[in-house]
Amino acid sequence: MNDEASSIPLVSADHVVKIFNGGGQRSAAVRGVSLEARRGELILLLGPSGSGKTTLLTLMAGLCRPSEGKITLFGRSLADYARAELQRLRARKMGFVFQTFLLLDSLTVRENVEIVLRFSGSSKTGRSERAFGLLRDLGIASLAGKFPATLSQGQKQRVAIARAVANDAELILADEPTGSLETNQGIAIIRLLHALAKDRGKCVIVASHDLRLAEYADRILRLEDGCVVREEEGPSISGTCSPAKGRSGDAPAPPDPARSCGAGYG
Ligand code: ADP
Ligand code: MG
Repeated sequence: MNDEASSIPLVSADHVVKIFNGGGQRSAAVRGVSLEARRGELILLLGPSGSGKTTLLTLMAGLCRPSEGKITLFGRSLADYARAELQRLRARKMGFVFQTFLLLDSLTVRENVEIVLRFSGSSKTGRSERAFGLLRDLGIASLAGKFPATLSQGQKQRVAIARAVANDAELILADEPTGSLETNQGIAIIRLLHALAKDRGKCVIVASHDLRLAEYADRILRLEDGCVVREEEGPSISGTCSPAKGRSGDAPAPPDPARSCGAGYG
């Protein structure tokens, strides 16, 4: 990958606002957020429940449109994509871990992963082998023939992660990917996502309320009430992670007033 390619953001948000109108109520879930994410980066959206993490990821996935501001995906404004183009882009270049997993109940675990490989050009056997390899890497090969309804939340989460990375996506958006996992399993997942960014040049954006994930991030955007209230560089910026060193919740952070709450929102 040349320098120019790695410097172009795969996804960017420019003063993005998302307002939901429902039941006569107007609710601003995202209020003037700007960010850019590039290849080789792991960005953490860190914030409490209701701070707008899922909405922001959904906007960056092109699954909903901003009320104000602009989303750019793979160098092109979201507004310029036709629906079919966006679907193809998502199928070929993007991977998602949804908070609710969204596994297909009528398919086995292995088939749930295989299905995202349908545009990969590989044979049925090749797809099946790749799916099984991913399940093995995630420690759930024994679940390959089971149906989602029979799995624990943590097992479902790992299937969702296998599915998100199966198509070798360039941009991976993961919503609370460690939320249902025991601590050790959660750390293994964030290490996997970190390795995808550092060793494979993927752009990974993770939403979480779990401060421990900050150890693995290049940048941490703290969200509160739909706004980025602070942006920090994470320890991963040097390409090395040293979780043992710890990073406390009140670690000093370089303030960035330019990204303060309410920009572009009245
Ligand atoms: P988080 O993922 O950080 O928990 P969300 O993005 O899910 O936050 O939600 C942010 C805010 O937007 C919350 O107040 C939530 O109730 C509201 N919200 C999210 N989705 C919708 C929706 N579809 N309709 C109305 N309000 C919504
Ligand atoms: Mg959420």
